[in-house]
Parts: sequence; C-alpha cells; structure tokens
Amino acid sequence: MNYRHIYHAGNFADVLKHAVLALVVEHLKLKEQPFRIVDTHAGIGLYDLASEEAQKTGEWRDGIGRILADTPPAEVAEILAPYLDVVRAENERRNEIVRYPGSPRVARRLMRPGDALVVNEAHTEDAARLKALFAKDAATKTLAIDGWTALKAVLPPKERRGLVLIDPPFEEPGEFRRIVEGLSAAHRRFATGTVIVWYPVKDTRAVRAFLRDAAALAIPKMLSVELFVRTPFSEGELSGTGLLILNPPFTLEAKLRTLLPYLTRVLARAKGAESRVEWLTGERITSS
Ligand code: SAM
Repeated sequence: MNYRHIYHAGNFADVLKHAVLALVVEHLKLKEQPFRIVDTHAGIGLYDLASEEAQKTGEWRDGIGRILADTPPAEVAEILAPYLDVVRAENERRNEIVRYPGSPRVARRLMRPGDALVVNEAHTEDAARLKALFAKDAATKTLAIDGWTALKAVLPPKERRGLVLIDPPFEEPGEFRRIVEGLSAAHRRFATGTVIVWYPVKDTRAVRAFLRDAAALAIPKMLSVELFVRTPFSEGELSGTGLLILNPPFTLEAKLRTLLPYLTRVLARAKGAESRVEWLTGERITSS
C-alpha cells in the first residue's frame, strides 16, 4: 500500500468529492432521525498542507486554493457553503489554508452529536493517526481493516438511514471490478442508503466499461458526475475525476448542474476542461 493521500489532499478531485459529501450530510440532517456515515477508505482525516509531502506536489493550490481565492456567484456560494465552512473552520484565517479536512473530518464536523460515523483505514500508520484524531469522539468508530470487508461488516446501519463513501486508492488493478461488487453488496444490505463512489478518470475506456458494468447491476437511481480540468491523459497528474452516487438526495442533481460549470471554469488547467451530470440509471429499472 503505497498511496498516501497527503500528496493529493485538497486537489480538484477532493473539492468535488467533499463538496458533494457535505451536501449529502446536510440533506440527511433535514430529518430528525439519526443517521450513520460509513467511510470505507478514510485516510488520516486531517492534512497538514505545510508538510513536506503536501508541499512536494502542491496539488491543493489548483484545487481548494483556487476556490478560496475566488468569489463565486451567490447561487454557487450557497451550494459550496457547508463544505467551505468546514475548510475555513480548520484554518485560523479566512482564505489562508494550512490544514485540509479529509472526508471523515468533513462528515463529522457537519454531523450532529447523535449521528454516528464509522471510519476505516487499512494502512497501519494512517489508521493510528485517524484513531488519534477521533479519540475523544464517542460517536465515531475507527476500524483498521480492508475497506471491502468493512463495507459488508457494518451494513446495514442500525439507524437504517445514512451514507456510505467508497474512496479507494486505485493503486492495484481490479479496483473498478471491486467497486462494482461493493456497490452491489452495499445495495443488497442497505437498499435505501446513499452511496458515493469516487474514481479517477485516466483511461476513459476503462471508465466507460466501469459505468456500463455499474448500470448492468440494474440498481435504480445512480447519478454520474464527472469533472475534467483538461483533456484526459492516462499519464501524469490526474486530469479528470468522477463520482457515482446511488440514491442521491432529490435536490442534488439540480445543485450539481449549478455547481459543476463553476468548478470547471475555476479549476480548469488547460484545453479540454468540461463536466457532465447524468443519470446512469433512472427511478425504475424495467426489464425487457
Ligand atoms: N477518503 C479520504 C478523503 O477523502 O479524505 C481519502 C482516501 S484515499 C483516496 C484512499 C485511502 O485508502 C488511503 O488512505 C489508503 O491508505 C487506504 N487504503 C488502501 N487500501 C485499502 C484497503 N484495502 N482498505 C481500506 N483502506 C485502504
């Protein structure tokens, strides 16, 4: 396991992922009943952007750095507010960022005291750091096992409401296949839950094949979102990122249709920047 998220924390892919995560958490809070969030590949939860690793790549500068330096139109500011409030809360001064919150921290900061969080991280050292971060938080359970095993072990949540975030490192072949299996397992155990899957777009053909395989699961209500900061390249720094969202809140599609053109404009690095929001499967699956 070589992947370390510290090299990528706060990049454009994190911006999209964490903004969507924040919107889903906010939607879950609209009902009083408690919910549970499961983060299968959680990382360390909080990233020091002054660290040698983060400085080496500086990826956050073209991600959250650009977003904080910009003044978005009011309708976009409203959509980004839950996410940016969390980022700002981690940093002493507005618009100067030294710490970046990972998915567990974004979720926990927005959740209510009665909601539960399960975070899992397989890398031994990172898992220890994650555990330390949540040591005083009785509502957060930290696991240090394989994420795919964790997914099956903790679903369904006893609250019967909530969200699963699947954010694997894509460092070994077969990750797209494991995601399709994971989606199927999550849906079997927790059909009403929201599931957010993150993926990189490097090889566009592999991504199209993955989306076809996901659609073939015949699970209703899967929304697909992709953001490219330049024409996709398979080599070098990431040029595109995607989220597959099962059972998105009914308000999410419209928000993404407002947010994505803005993110594309502000985060564009070169020719070919674009985004798309589309349903992979609809409300109902009809068998032919
Ligand atoms: N979700 C985090 C966030 O948004 O802040 C970032 C997670 S990072 C993309 C993927 C993480 O998965 C890494 O921290 C890596 O150590 C961990 N990992 C790698 N293989 C794993 C496995 N089999 N099970 C669980 N975690 C794993």
